[in-house]
Amino acid sequence: MNFIEEIIEKDLTEKKNDCRVHTRFPPEPNGYLHIGHAKSICLNFSLAEKYNGKCNLRFDDTNPVKEDVEYVDSIKEDITWLGFSWAAEYYASDYFEQLYQWAEQLIGEGLAYVDDQTQEEISQGRGVPTKPGIESPYRNRSIEENLDLFRRMRAGEFPDGSRVLRAKIGMSSPNMHMRDPIMYRILHADHHRTGNRWCIYPMYDYAHGQCDSIEGITHSICTLEFEIHRPLYDWFCEALHIHHPQQIEFARLNLSYTIMSKRKLMQLVKEKQVMGWDDPRMPTISGLRRRGFTPKSIRTFAETVGIAKRDNIIDVNLLEFCAREDLNKVALRTMAVLDPVKLIIDNYPTDQMEQMQATNNPEDPEAGTRQVPFSRELWIERADFREVADKKFYRLTVGGEVRLKYAYIITCTGVVKNEAGEITEIHAQYFPETRSGLSESNRKVKATIHWVSAAHTQTAEIRLFDRLFTVPEPDNDEEGKSFLDYINPDSLIVKNGYLEESLNLKTAAPYYQFERIGYFCIDKDATETHLVFNKTVSLKQ
Ligand code: ATP
Ligand code: MG
Repeated sequence: MNFIEEIIEKDLTEKKNDCRVHTRFPPEPNGYLHIGHAKSICLNFSLAEKYNGKCNLRFDDTNPVKEDVEYVDSIKEDITWLGFSWAAEYYASDYFEQLYQWAEQLIGEGLAYVDDQTQEEISQGRGVPTKPGIESPYRNRSIEENLDLFRRMRAGEFPDGSRVLRAKIGMSSPNMHMRDPIMYRILHADHHRTGNRWCIYPMYDYAHGQCDSIEGITHSICTLEFEIHRPLYDWFCEALHIHHPQQIEFARLNLSYTIMSKRKLMQLVKEKQVMGWDDPRMPTISGLRRRGFTPKSIRTFAETVGIAKRDNIIDVNLLEFCAREDLNKVALRTMAVLDPVKLIIDNYPTDQMEQMQATNNPEDPEAGTRQVPFSRELWIERADFREVADKKFYRLTVGGEVRLKYAYIITCTGVVKNEAGEITEIHAQYFPETRSGLSESNRKVKATIHWVSAAHTQTAEIRLFDRLFTVPEPDNDEEGKSFLDYINPDSLIVKNGYLEESLNLKTAAPYYQFERIGYFCIDKDATETHLVFNKTVSLKQ
């Protein structure tokens, strides 16, 4: 049980909130979600499931300039793909009128005032945490004047930045967020939902707690950087005498070799360092989906990481481990040769073709079997052959033996080279009695290699990905460097591989294991005549 569950269970025993558990996931629709958000989604939705409660999806759309419906749509798609469904979909902008009325209420109680100072004067007045700040010269306006000015702010009489509404709390708290925080700013901007209906917008701190309150949220879970905002969250709920959800903070997820900020991910997209938000190298949920991660592997990862109270960095290998664990169970096996060299079996009849029986998934008998054509000329992996090999090399060598998976044991008799000295053909003999499945076929060899029949194959573009950054902490802005200085120039390598002929776009499975290589999935760029595969992860770390 993690510390959040402990809090919830204590609340349930004390019959707090009429024994309800209601969480929410509150993204700002200003970019695509990343694996850090996935962590928060899994946490909020799983708590609701575990305690028979509800979890809302609330778009925190109080920043009209940066927000867009494109992001709203992608966020919904990502949460659904992860396997969660929200009890209700809300927008902070749904509550703009209520928030405005509450602001008038606070003005009426002498708890808020309109400040005409510039942004700079306001932050100067706030001062430093060790000394009390200076009160604004506008702080003691009458309630009537404040109400009049605030109404005129709403009516659009003043230009952007000319005035703000501030809460009248005090100027001496050591917590700077409590020194007469700004509640509203003037912004003549088009909002993706409310259009030009509003030209004043609430600040995060004024909006968030009240939105939670309106929805009857019981536990408002957020990341540690909001801990210092909590007194303000509590202050507004108390001042307005409204339902008071409990804000609980946990450590945000950080991953090695990854950046996790929408703003920076947006920069990668805008500067075309990647193919888009869903580039398979991106830590976005859409990128991981395109890369071939299963929803389950991401949920397992989030659970395995657990809930911490202190910031730390999780090894990206853990995410890949979770992907392998799940893909091993669900991916269909197929043979693909990514770096091909020709293998000719000289004693195999020229015009013969046999169908070999291959297992689709040894972990799942229901996945069945398929027929793979075998013939005299095959493609095998260049790395599976060495002319001269040391004792540790168990695969094919001149004079040595290997098994061709699902087929025969062969022995290599020699090679043909081109003028540059590169091997162009490997010649071999096969032993008919060693065909897989025959009772005499239990002859031992040290290695089994994969292959595709040269006359029964198709080519495909295979995209191999490496980490997007060359250092474990690309976001650690040391020595004036930025994350852009650590981009790995070799993070994408494109190969032309040979695949089993039967693979096709129409009947393709969502996940494949290319035997002995790794897990792959079909990319959205694929067409019926040009297959494109993404490598998700290798078989082993
Ligand atoms: P970013 O800094 O990447 O833009 P954000 O916190 O501004 O992220 P929001 O859309 O405001 O993004 O976040 C929605 C929810 O997801 C918030 O509750 C936030 O705390 C949570 N969240 C964001 N990043 C992480 C993370 N790395 N780990 C866990 N939770 C996160
Ligand atoms: Mg945010």
